[in-house]
Amino acid sequence: MKSKLKRNDTNAKAAYERAIRVIPGGVNSPVRAFSSVDMTPIIVASGQGSRVLDVDGNSYIDYIGSWGPLILGHAHQEMVEAIWKAAIRGTSFGLSTEIETKMAELICEAVPSVEMVRMVNSGTEATMSALRLARGYTNRAKIIKFQGGYHGHADAMLIKSGSGVATLGLPDSPGVPKSVAENTITVPYNSLDSVRMVFEQLGEQIAAVIVEPVAGNMGVVPPLPGFLQGLRDITIQYGSLLIFDEVMTGFRVGYNGAQGLYGIKPDLTCLGKVIGGGLPVGAYGGSREIMEQIAPVGPIYQAGTLSGNPLAMAAGYAALSILGNDPTIYTELERKSARLAEGFLQNAKQTGVPLKVNRVGSMLCSYFMEHDVVDYETAQLSNMALFKKYYAAMIERGILTAPTPYEVMFVSNAHSDEDIETTIEAHYEALKQCGG
Ligand code: PLP
Repeated sequence: MKSKLKRNDTNAKAAYERAIRVIPGGVNSPVRAFSSVDMTPIIVASGQGSRVLDVDGNSYIDYIGSWGPLILGHAHQEMVEAIWKAAIRGTSFGLSTEIETKMAELICEAVPSVEMVRMVNSGTEATMSALRLARGYTNRAKIIKFQGGYHGHADAMLIKSGSGVATLGLPDSPGVPKSVAENTITVPYNSLDSVRMVFEQLGEQIAAVIVEPVAGNMGVVPPLPGFLQGLRDITIQYGSLLIFDEVMTGFRVGYNGAQGLYGIKPDLTCLGKVIGGGLPVGAYGGSREIMEQIAPVGPIYQAGTLSGNPLAMAAGYAALSILGNDPTIYTELERKSARLAEGFLQNAKQTGVPLKVNRVGSMLCSYFMEHDVVDYETAQLSNMALFKKYYAAMIERGILTAPTPYEVMFVSNAHSDEDIETTIEAHYEALKQCGG
């Protein structure tokens, strides 16, 4: 590993210049542009275990992990073999295969509220489809979402969303019709009082409340005690559905997701990221009664040419099987992530840099400030100028995290104790360099 060196980005610059001629911003998803930290994007050559190698030969300990899916690290051998074996039998049929049922069975066994599940191709599709189902099932139009909650880029959800949009400073996006936005009501995360107020006024019109049970697109914001239970109670009272967007938390904060961790059963659950093992997969599921409203059993339409794709199912099935068969994976993730958080806090104390670390399992983040972060407003108080300096100092030392303070640092099973200690050391030096 080249560490403590200025990053050589000669090839990355050339690759980026070529890309921006034919791809908007040179990227296929905005946050990859690294514009929030004024850097040339990392252009990846390969990944193995906990590391990625860029096109200039720089090696990084990677905590982006493809933004969450890679809980087992890069190019995990069993998963690569599963994908390979599936590929030589045919990459897509647009017809049913047995592995789709095996995958659905695994999900239904693992996720407490899910009796039936439908596979789609991304987290965005999962939330979009779950919202249509909730609206069709309740025959109501309005949705409540939380400020700083990101549920993919469908029109109805691109309103006060976090992460990429928060960093770009776009409150919502041109192209989202007013008539669509009008049906999305946003309230502060962790504020049951605000949810109650909206229900008191509009309760009979609200189809669903959609929530990230651990918010992961404004850094990491855990639910305050009683928040998720309160949402469950209010939605039952008014005949609305509760949708847990577990695209990030599903099979990440534990094998049974956030609903297993907190013991709350939503009506619908959206999944993505980990369940695809690094291939494009999403899913939504819930009780038999609600799920049987979807075509072809029920009248609510949803479809996909590549849904349940055999390669994606092979990767996902391999990932979930590995996670389900080895209970030590989650205890080890917890131990390593706790050590990382503790190391960061110790460094902050020693260098005098104000730092708040939030963590749930292997999802963690640090804000450059001392206040508690409970919602979008408090998350935004993080010192962005300090983050930029810190970010550059970490990259120089071979530590790759998301180029924004509003994204999660994901610890994977491939991170060794040595990786964690190297990261803590680099963090100390970076804090000293940027002001401690
Ligand atoms: N929901 C949550 C909680 C997410 O974090 C994301 C993506 O980051 C999505 C939905 C959208 O998933 P995708 O990017 O696969 O469309």
